[in-house]
Amino acid sequence: MCGIIGIFGNENAAELATLGLFAEQHRGQESCGMAVHDGHKFVLRKKMGLVKEVFRPQKIKLLQGKIAIGHVRYPTCGSSSEYNSQPHIVETLSGPSYALASNGDIINYTEMRQKLENKGIYFASYNDGELLLKYIVYQVEKNGKSIVDAIKLAMQNIKGAFSTVLGTRDGLYVFRDPYGIRPLSLGKLKDGSIAVASESCALDILHPDSIREVAPAEIVEITKQKLQSHQLQASHYRTSKHNKHCIFEHVYFARPDSFEFNENVYQVRMNIGSILAKNDEADYDIVVPVPDSANFIALGFARQKNIPYEMGLIRNHYVGRTFIKPEQTIRDESVNQKFNPLPNIFKGKNIALVDDSIVRGTTLRQIVKMVRKAGANQIHLRIGSPMVKFSCFYGIDTPSQDELIANNKSLEAIRDYLGADSVKYLQIEQLQQAVKKPQDYCYACFNGKYPVK
Ligand code: AMP
Repeated sequence: MCGIIGIFGNENAAELATLGLFAEQHRGQESCGMAVHDGHKFVLRKKMGLVKEVFRPQKIKLLQGKIAIGHVRYPTCGSSSEYNSQPHIVETLSGPSYALASNGDIINYTEMRQKLENKGIYFASYNDGELLLKYIVYQVEKNGKSIVDAIKLAMQNIKGAFSTVLGTRDGLYVFRDPYGIRPLSLGKLKDGSIAVASESCALDILHPDSIREVAPAEIVEITKQKLQSHQLQASHYRTSKHNKHCIFEHVYFARPDSFEFNENVYQVRMNIGSILAKNDEADYDIVVPVPDSANFIALGFARQKNIPYEMGLIRNHYVGRTFIKPEQTIRDESVNQKFNPLPNIFKGKNIALVDDSIVRGTTLRQIVKMVRKAGANQIHLRIGSPMVKFSCFYGIDTPSQDELIANNKSLEAIRDYLGADSVKYLQIEQLQQAVKKPQDYCYACFNGKYPVK
């Protein structure tokens, strides 16, 4: 998973982009990068590491220009390395330069790359952002297409999820795949400059006058002269008449203060909690979230049941992502470092312990042990999503299918493995009640129905 940012028409483009990237740090912590157009060419800085480490004030000063494009990366395809990080740039001999950052995954990557390689195009990475860039630049530079027409061709031929920002010397081109799988928002700042970001929380920090979402299959062309939307007929570029936003953004990935897919993320999470509670007859002494992603789900649950909500687990925010550690023993140990129970909260209690999802089962297995040790009487796991049984090919990092606990074990075997007194998942139909337009979402990780093949 990744996050992108674009700034147009601001003297402090690099500073603003850094603020935005920092607000999107949750979308990727492996590497980050920024390309700023200095009037002649794009100057690129990308490195492994966090935004605050890579973009220290003295480094930002070297990135002078009014157009900036930035990216935070959490690899789903292509290894974790600097050359696979984004943005990618192309400097042409004839003058024009291009920079691109994208969030999503391309599913026909190999085939499209081969086609371009057959035409003599060179690739420096295995990253799908580079494929999008090379495809568009080829159409413009070799086939004489306008940038907007080149992007239209990309929408026809490149399949998968892409929320993208392309920068040139004169402008920004912002576009989203025809299914609108990943989020993308656009804001107008007070001084007239424009910012785009994966999540609205990254625009909020720039205090925009207005924010709107970029629509699926929309191309927004932003130059000094104009801001023009080219709203393509999405149905020409896809087989379903519905959008296919990623429901997992609401369940887990997005920041709760973001607005995406026409919903407040925290509100969807509260709805999920409340629906979980309505479908649960049992009574509990306290409701405890696995912080931070399940906080609002547990709050919705507690309010619906009118049971005390206790922040019984304290999370150390400086432990990196436990999820992507290479070995199970290291993942287990990282969970232990990440969470610690409050003393006196759990003793003798019947607890509804709420998490947003179970993937391999690593987190909850360790937490259940911890909570038992802290004196809990009964531990009932209440999960804010259906069983994750299928891998995601559109940008969420799910391990291979055989590592998914729900793909291998029955509900009873999962309960046993996690050491809980009971486990209850949300059903897909229940999750659908939490959003305004359920038909506009992708549920492939739960039901294996992949909208883009
Ligand atoms: P696991 O410990 O493998 O069962 O993973 C589930 C936990 O990791 C949940 O607490 C989620 O908050 C979190 N999680 C779920 N999906 C992802 C993902 N794709 N990347 C990182 N963390 C995730």
